[in-house]
Amino acid sequence: MSQRVFKLADKQEIADDIFSLKLEASDDLALEFEAGQFVSIEVGDNQRRSYSIASPPQQSDHLELNISTKPGGVGSKYVEALEVGAEVKGLFPLGVFVYKPDASKPAFMFSGGTGLAPFLSMVSYELEVIKSGREVQLYYGAKFRIDVFAADKLEVWAAKYPNFSYKIYVEEPDAEWKGLTGRYSSAVEQWRNLGADFYMCGAQGMIEAFEDILEAKGVDPANIYHEQFY
Ligand SMILES: Cc1cc2nc3c(=O)[nH]c(=O)nc-3n(C[C@H](O)[C@H](O)[C@H](O)COP(=O)(O)OP(=O)(O)OC[C@H]3O[C@@H](n4cnc5c(N)ncnc54)[C@H](O)[C@@H]3O)c2cc1C
Repeated sequence: MSQRVFKLADKQEIADDIFSLKLEASDDLALEFEAGQFVSIEVGDNQRRSYSIASPPQQSDHLELNISTKPGGVGSKYVEALEVGAEVKGLFPLGVFVYKPDASKPAFMFSGGTGLAPFLSMVSYELEVIKSGREVQLYYGAKFRIDVFAADKLEVWAAKYPNFSYKIYVEEPDAEWKGLTGRYSSAVEQWRNLGADFYMCGAQGMIEAFEDILEAKGVDPANIYHEQFY
């Protein structure tokens, strides 16, 4: 881990108040990290916020971050004000919530909101680099339809790789949402096959509730990995 300086090469609003930032290194050093890690960005005087890396490690020329500015704090205000070309300072890479390739068992991934970000990196790494054929199932919950991002990327992977599937649940759907509704925890309650690795990322409440469900079903805690955003 070291202090790095990046340049904001691109910024796009990819869903309601969710921004994709593309960071390039300001030096000639490669951006080496493991799928699932994060960067701790200087968002003010002595103030840092952590953001998971959504791009995969095989793309070592830039980092993509997917950041919600809905929380509205110092990090959100910093991201809202950032303009393309700006200098961004961060500690990189950080974190132990990393993807562990293991073709002997499936990987089930559960995300809420921008908790999808590290899974975009992990799934790309497994499907496009590891290529073990491991079954990967991704569950992604969003509050509203307009919060959903990266659905096109998930659809491309699902069409191309038969071992990958995903389900998006919208908790409070509007008339335009044609997909699954409510929370995915109800689906998991029905599961029988629990010999898998379980990865989860999002808010504390979601992670704790989910761990309780899995452990009550007899899942070995050693096979459960989580990253808590807040
Ligand atoms: C390891 C790690 C990785 C993270 N990766 C990402 C990421 O990829 N994308 C991302 O958007 N955020 C991510 N976060 C959350 C991020 O670091 C900030 O906490 C968040 O952006 C809020 O910062 P803020 O300064 O705007 O608000 P703060 O002033 O820090 O918090 C304001 C309020 O918002 C709540 N809150 C914090 N985060 C969220 C959230 N995501 N949604 C709803 N409410 C929230 C807090 O509990 C608090 O009550 C990550 C956090 C950790 C610890």
